[in-house]
Order: sequence, then C-alpha cells, then structure tokens
Amino acid sequence: MDKLTVRDADVTGKRVFVRVDFNVPLEDGKVTDDSRIRASLPTIRYLLSQGARVVLASHLGRPDGKVQDGLRLRPVAERLTMLLGRNVPVTGDALGAGTVDAVNRLRNGEALLLENLRFHAEEETDDPEFAQQLADYAEVYVNDAFGTAHRAHASTVGVAKILPAYAGFLMEREIAMLSRLLEDPARPFAAIVGGAKVSGKLKVLDNLVSKVDVLVLGGGMANTFLLAQGKSVGKSLAEHDMVDEARRVLTAAEKAKVQVILPVDVVVAKEVTRGTEYKTIPAEKIPASWHIVDLGVETLGLIQDALAEAKTVFWNGPLGVFEIPSFAHGTKAIARYLAARADDGATVVVGGGDSVAAIQQQGLAERFTHISTGGGASLEFLEGRELPGVAVLRDRPAESPAKGGSKRRRKAQPTTAGTGRGRRA
Ligand code: ADP
Ligand code: MG
Repeated sequence: MDKLTVRDADVTGKRVFVRVDFNVPLEDGKVTDDSRIRASLPTIRYLLSQGARVVLASHLGRPDGKVQDGLRLRPVAERLTMLLGRNVPVTGDALGAGTVDAVNRLRNGEALLLENLRFHAEEETDDPEFAQQLADYAEVYVNDAFGTAHRAHASTVGVAKILPAYAGFLMEREIAMLSRLLEDPARPFAAIVGGAKVSGKLKVLDNLVSKVDVLVLGGGMANTFLLAQGKSVGKSLAEHDMVDEARRVLTAAEKAKVQVILPVDVVVAKEVTRGTEYKTIPAEKIPASWHIVDLGVETLGLIQDALAEAKTVFWNGPLGVFEIPSFAHGTKAIARYLAARADDGATVVVGGGDSVAAIQQQGLAERFTHISTGGGASLEFLEGRELPGVAVLRDRPAESPAKGGSKRRRKAQPTTAGTGRGRRA
C-alpha cells in the first residue's frame, strides 16, 4: 500500500482541508494529554511552511449530533496555538456563513480549526451534502487522523472523494509501520495479545496466526484459551461462547508451527478490587471462587525467553488488570522488557489504547519503535482489512518515485507523540 502524501501535493497558496485526530482527554476545560495534537504537528508545520491555508477539522468525544459546550474544541485550539507558536482560531461551528468567511480570509501560512465536526449528525452518517459543504472550504484534502481512519465519516471519506486526497505524515508513518508487520517483518516475529475479551481480538488473532512465529496470549482474553485447554478459571473474566473459536485459533497456530505461550501460572484475587487478598498459583489450580488478574513470574520468564530472539514484536492489550497497581506487575514487566528489546534494535510496535497507556505511565514510550495513535484503527488494520479512510487516499502510481528521492531511502518525518525514533523507518 503506497499512498501519495502531502509531499506530493501542490499546496502553496491553496486552501487545504486537514482531517486531524484531536480527540484528546479534557478535564476542567484543559487538555490533559496532548500527544495526539503533537502527533500532527509535523504535517501542520509542513503545510504552513509551504504557504498553504490550513483548515483543520476534528471530532471530540461523542456529542451525537448535538452541540455540547463541554466538547467544544477551544481548549484544543489553545494548546495547538501554544505548540505551534502561532495563533490558530477556532470557529463557532463547522458550518455557517461566519465560518465560510473565516476560511476565505485565511492568508498563506495561516490555519484555523473548525468546531467539533460531530456537533453535526451528518458527519458520522457521511451525508453527501455535509461532505460537499466541508469540501467547499478547500482545494486539497489531507488525512492525518489515523485513529479515525476505520470510520467512513464525511470528514474521513466523503470529503476525500470530492477533493484530491493525500496522507499526512502521521498517517504515512502509521501505514508504513503497520503494513511492514503484515508484509515484511524481520523474523522471528512475535505478537503479544492481551486485553479483556477474545471476541474483540478474534479477527486480529486469525490474521496474525498466519504471520507470526511466536504468539503470546495474556490478559483476560487468555482465560478463554485456558478453558479451551480444559482448565477451569474460577470466577475469572471469560467468554464461554468463544471457547470453540479459541480452540480453532490454537489449532491454526499448531498447523502453522507457531509457538504459542499461554499462562502457566497466574495471580488470582478474591475480588477484582484494590486491597483484596491475592496470590500466585499454577494455571491448573484456579480455585472456583477466585479471579485471574495477572500473569505469574514463571509465565513472565517463558515470555521473555520466547521473545529473546524476536526481531519484530507487536503488542496489543494489557496482560492483567493493570489499573490496579498490585495486578499491573506483568504488564509493566513486559513493557520494560520490550523497551529493552527495542534498545537492542528489535522493531517493537504497540497498538491499543490501554496497552499504550500502560507504557506511557512508565515513561517508556520514546524507547519503542512505534506507538500507534489509533487503538481500534490499528487493530482493524492488522486484521488485514483496508480502512475506509486509507482506501480513499490517492495511490502512488506504480512507476513514479516519491518526491525527494526513492521511498526506501527517504527518511521518516519526525513525529513527537511517543511515536518512537523512527531509526529504521
Ligand atoms: P487495548 O485498549 O490495549 O486494546 P483492551 O481494551 O482490549 O486493551 O483491554 C484492556 C482491559 O483488559 C483493561 O481494562 C484490563 O483491566 C483488562 N484486563 C486485562 N487482564 C484482565 C483479566 N485477567 N481480567 C479482567 N480484565 C483484564
Ligand atoms: Mg481498550
């Protein structure tokens, strides 16, 4: 998959509609984590430096088609203004005469931010008229919102069908890093999949089983696999209706000669709460009234041995109930181990909201090769599906090399949101 990027577009003096993912956490009207804003700075800075007139657009939260004052983008515009060192005003509404005016008044090298797109229900239904109104703001379309690329909305697909559509630098990097996992991973290639439920991860497991050399299963999800192995899991989170599917994944892995690591010892707790009683026991001996909440040390050792030679690792999903400090040990230990493997030169890519949070909590993000900004989008990508917001972007014609040199030799644009050092990009 090779998409044209902002570098290939002629943007000087043009109005450029840029779909960004500024869906950031807010508290008391302040942005509490600006990594998504920082992640799009390279694209925004590039466009401004080229003398484009930049119309930024994003959603924030789930206002479901109604104006919600708590979900206005003003705090985001303020943070962006600070980070860019130049004023980025926010419009009162994504549509309307005032907004049309503000867009028309933009001069070369200036940017504004449209108000929350999801204040209009037409955004999520990809209403053609709404898309046309957004497209009328600009001559060129750029998508840098990888985190929303799995949604076919007006700003991710509708507008991109009307205007010539290019990938931003963040989008480019996400596609490059994730497609390399599927197409050309350095081997051995290991995947660690954890998190809450098998049902949400089944398609990605199906696809990864045919690609990886090592598959580590942990978190609540692994409990269903323990059931598939004929073990009992007590009161642990498990999906009894998914046991056959889990067995199918294990059979596929065996056929493909994939080394599968399942927990051999676990931490069990009386309740899934802070301050409860807990202990480490073999996975064969889960008492009926206890909950599995983390991996045991023996399992951690097995995982580290299995990953010791890996040249590529993908990780999604915490390996225990990491929100409770006593049950975060396994997740934290793997995060530290993977950071060290990345230091040694392995390609280590992480996707998924909670796994990324676990890494950021420990301040390890910078050491990873790539931390995807899209939780759901990265999983859908690794399921092998083409994301609608990616599909709609212009493909690079087969014979034309990228502007500024061949694609292989080109250096990755630096991104700042803990998206790694890109040293092998
Ligand atoms: P990600 O966001 O990284 O894709 P998920 O959303 O799939 O991850 O899963 C994260 C959740 O899984 C966390 O809230 C964590 O508490 C939960 N979890 C992990 N292990 C267990 C377990 N053994 N029992 C119950 N919940 C678990
Ligand atoms: Mg999650």
